[in-house]
Amino acid sequence: MDLYEYQGKQLFARFGIPVSAGRLATTPDEARVAAEELGGQVVVKAQVLTGGRGKAGGIKLADDPDDARSKAHRILGMDIGGHVVRRLWIERASEIAKEYYLSLTFDRGAKRPLFMFTTEGGVDIEEVAATKPEALVRLHVDPFEGFQPWQARALVYGARVEDPGEQKQIAAIVGKLYDAFVGCDAMLAEINPLIVTPAGEVKALDSKFTVDDNALFKHPEIAEMRDLDAVPVEERAAREKGVTYVKLDGEVGILGNGAGLVMSTLDVIANAGGRPANFCDLGGGGDAEGVVDALEVITVDPQVRSIFFNIFGGITRCDEVARGILQALDRMEIAQPIVVRLDGTNAEEGRLILQEAAPANLHAEATMLEAAERAVELARA
Ligand code: GDP
Ligand code: MN
Repeated sequence: MDLYEYQGKQLFARFGIPVSAGRLATTPDEARVAAEELGGQVVVKAQVLTGGRGKAGGIKLADDPDDARSKAHRILGMDIGGHVVRRLWIERASEIAKEYYLSLTFDRGAKRPLFMFTTEGGVDIEEVAATKPEALVRLHVDPFEGFQPWQARALVYGARVEDPGEQKQIAAIVGKLYDAFVGCDAMLAEINPLIVTPAGEVKALDSKFTVDDNALFKHPEIAEMRDLDAVPVEERAAREKGVTYVKLDGEVGILGNGAGLVMSTLDVIANAGGRPANFCDLGGGGDAEGVVDALEVITVDPQVRSIFFNIFGGITRCDEVARGILQALDRMEIAQPIVVRLDGTNAEEGRLILQEAAPANLHAEATMLEAAERAVELARA
């Protein structure tokens, strides 16, 4: 789960990482009041779950409350990379002398959290990594040993921070970022830029914070931060129905039972020259209820041109799934053609049930590859 900048900053503050005072606003008038309360110059910042807001015009300095109101008016409703701005974070403006970059993320290859730090902040970190790799200091933390204070010093000296005051403050922030990362079960905690003010004060000017979905049950106060309006409709539908669903960007909707089968179905569709629009895992169940739920979720996505139902009967019997599919078709209108491949336990009975009922938009195929080819062909028709 990705957090908004202001939510990430709330977590930062809780763990002792310095941030600027700010207020949330959803209307230009609220922005004006927020600026009044904060006093002096403020920054009006679009809150969207994507980066590059500055470049897109979603971050503006405002000199007084009326200016904040008009900047807010301009930014609200803006589309930034497909995300519509509905919330603003109004923050007391900072003076910036230097912009650094600090992040902690999971290095899956190394199976360890990885710190990255550079004094070349404020810009895309990918660019620094590509053009000035020597300026990017990388350091793994052994999760069993935990974070050690020498690691913060290694980052700071490695990036050649010379000012002793900066060294001390950054080292402290590094330790606190590790605490926040572990304490919140984060997957990513990024500060870009980590600024130094002309007075030599170091603080987090931005926050990108991602929490592991599977750990949200341990953090109800973070789970509550989720903005349901920002979740795509089909994902919201899936969550409500308890269906495992992943959105992709092709045209074949995929439904299977079991994660492994679903994964290989994606490959088979690609092999047949098509692209999956999404995938749904029915799990162990193949009853009408489960099939209806999954089909409802899949067909919310307007990109779906055909549906590939790939079932391997094990504990789930194919005849049950076949009946589930027919009941589902009775209960709902489905515009897209459906290709069904049934194999495994009671596959023949299952296919027979489908053949006898013979719904117009349903095509039964004997093998996974034939079914994939059919689904891809129907998606193109
Ligand atoms: P991003 O573009 O989505 O990464 O948003 P950031 O929060 O990182 O802001 C982008 C840029 O806006 C920063 O790198 C700063 O240069 C500028 N900015 C943000 N807040 C302030 C501020 O308080 N004062 C000044 N002078 N510039 C700011
Ligand atoms: Mn940033």
